[in-house]
Amino acid sequence: MKLLVPVKRVVDYNVKVRVKADGTGVETANVKMSMNPFDEIAVEEAVRLKEKGAATEIIAVSIGPAAAAEQIRTALAMGADRGILVEVEGAVEPLAVAKLLKAIIMKEEPGLIILGKQAIDDDMNATGQMLAALMGWGQGTFASKVELAADSVTVTREVDGGLETVKLTLPAIVTADLRLNEPRYASLPNIMKARKKPIENLKPADLGVDASPRLTTLKVEEPPKRQAGRKVGSVAELVDKLRNEAKVI
Ligand code: AMP
Repeated sequence: MKLLVPVKRVVDYNVKVRVKADGTGVETANVKMSMNPFDEIAVEEAVRLKEKGAATEIIAVSIGPAAAAEQIRTALAMGADRGILVEVEGAVEPLAVAKLLKAIIMKEEPGLIILGKQAIDDDMNATGQMLAALMGWGQGTFASKVELAADSVTVTREVDGGLETVKLTLPAIVTADLRLNEPRYASLPNIMKARKKPIENLKPADLGVDASPRLTTLKVEEPPKRQAGRKVGSVAELVDKLRNEAKVI
């Protein structure tokens, strides 16, 4: 069974993002970019499924600038077999990503797609769900455990206040949550080997998809600055300030 893992190039999670001076978005020039952390978890899960013998081939797909090939290489170094880069300049929205992934699925016919639950740049949490809807397939979102059988996948989901287990008929869509696994670091020999693995380059037009944005960003702004804290001398003073200054009790 083939597995498809979409990996997004995003600002590295360690970077303190800065809003552009004109308020149109966040600064990405000269900023460290990495694979979306939830996508690393998705790649790790796919590699583990292949190591267990439940899958035969892993295809990593990224939709973004030419530099997103770096994130595909990372997936290849972790254990994916080949990559597909759909080159798109500028922002690409979840619906366009889902349509492009659908076109790739039609060509590649994978049995399971494992996405991240959300990309940490836009926090959309939408692509996996949109893809499931476009395909008419079952979805197991926020997965903390995935068990793959020949014609079904059992997914334990992290829901409010507990865990829910669902069984989906294949082909199906899974989105990875934080506790699914701990992604491996690629070893140097595997990074070298990954250089030889193939990456196919496509444009949205090759897949017959219009990837132009439907949304207009009106404004991006920093959260309001928090005021410095103050020390109080006693519980009575604290209660007085909460009652008379903050007026919260
Ligand atoms: P989002 O719906 O944007 O929060 O993204 C959810 C997941 O969809 C991500 O974790 C990725 O697995 C996938 N995804 C979203 N955008 C892209 C992209 N441009 N290229 C590849 N995968 C993507």
